[in-house]
Amino acid sequence: MPITLTNLVLHDIRFPTSKSLDGSDAMNAAPDYSAAYLRINTSDPTLHGDSFIFTIGRGNEIQIQAIKILATKIVGFEIEYAFKNIGAIAKELSGDSQLRWLGADKGVFHMGAGAVLNALWDIFAKSRGVPLWKLLASMSPEELVAAIDFRYITDALTADEALAILRKAVPHRAANEALLLKEGVLAYTTTPGWLGYDDEKMLRLTQEAIDSGFGLVKYKCGKSLEDDRRRLTKIRDLVGPDFPIAIDANQVWDVEVAIEWINTLKEFNLHWVEEPTHPDDVIGHARIAAAIAPTRVATGEHASSRIIFKQLLQGNAIKVMQIDATRVAGVNENLANILLAAKFGVPVCPHAGGVGLCEIVQHLAMFDAVAVTGHHFNRVVEFVDHLHEHFLEPANIVNGAYRPPRRSGASSEMVAQSIQEFEFPHGTYWSSPAGISHARASRMNTAEKNQRNGARG
Ligand SMILES: [Mg+2]
Repeated sequence: MPITLTNLVLHDIRFPTSKSLDGSDAMNAAPDYSAAYLRINTSDPTLHGDSFIFTIGRGNEIQIQAIKILATKIVGFEIEYAFKNIGAIAKELSGDSQLRWLGADKGVFHMGAGAVLNALWDIFAKSRGVPLWKLLASMSPEELVAAIDFRYITDALTADEALAILRKAVPHRAANEALLLKEGVLAYTTTPGWLGYDDEKMLRLTQEAIDSGFGLVKYKCGKSLEDDRRRLTKIRDLVGPDFPIAIDANQVWDVEVAIEWINTLKEFNLHWVEEPTHPDDVIGHARIAAAIAPTRVATGEHASSRIIFKQLLQGNAIKVMQIDATRVAGVNENLANILLAAKFGVPVCPHAGGVGLCEIVQHLAMFDAVAVTGHHFNRVVEFVDHLHEHFLEPANIVNGAYRPPRRSGASSEMVAQSIQEFEFPHGTYWSSPAGISHARASRMNTAEKNQRNGARG
């Protein structure tokens, strides 16, 4: 009897991370890491698909509504029909013309399409008893290419070119997988680098990161040049002149400001500079890249689609491409992104952190390592060490590398107790006095805060 997709369950899950300034950067001073969480149940009571879109708090409820509207389209499908037609389903989810008006190929509906697709991929992998990376790395080049929507990118990558890239890697898949199982894929960490941490905490966490085997550490920057110089001087004093360190401005600069600011920090020998300006400003990124070379520009966690990535690559605007598991339209669009990067010879160094992003995106890096560009030292996957305990199979970092997940699926399933505790606003945390007080403080906008500060004199 074929297994069908029967119904949806959605949860608004929010963690009060802004209390400890985890996740603080020059753009996002007080994020509450959140998940617009989707479960698709099936006619097999032991099988369901889980996914989520990462948000940073307010607006999570809007993301959930978008996911619900889109996911309703696939209820009733047989699983194997969905697997064989996943490319057509992806096009339908991103291409519904009335909803597309609210995009196109960006924003809450495009991300919502990603949640639906990622939940389907979780079901596909679970139904075959394999982790997602293994499912993807076992599919034929033809099946993988059929999952991709090439619309708007054929001037940079055609289906035939994508097929050729994938076919070239087929003879190496077994050896690449053996190496993956033995050594994993390299990680780097942002844990020491949040802007809200004082220097003592930053340096202590940096030493811990180096001691535990990370070969690259990234720091938030861009709020004050004086602060950046002070922090980077202390970091260089600790780690020496050659240990790789990167910085991340989280979009705060205008183009000319970025160029001047980054060139002022050149003496610190930066491995890359991340998100120097607005994520849609492809020409601005290209200008910055040319002006700060050989320092490398990295971006992508906020790149809304394969179309933005295509332009960044065509414009020679990035040397490091940072795909995100829940920003674009799911596994399908990230297959396009990984193949675009392969065509242009730019390494894919996935963005992670948030809540659950490490867990999901590691599968895409592992697929890349087995079935696309193979193992190389230019691929490093971001790791931030918090909120992993809320997942059934937390990301496993050993000696600075992600070890491949063994459970079937996409590692995106949250533990039931975490959902009960952090569901907003009625979970046990959010209905407690501490949760109510945090929610109230977090709701205050800047004007109210200013007024309050003013009133206090
Ligand atoms: Mg970043």
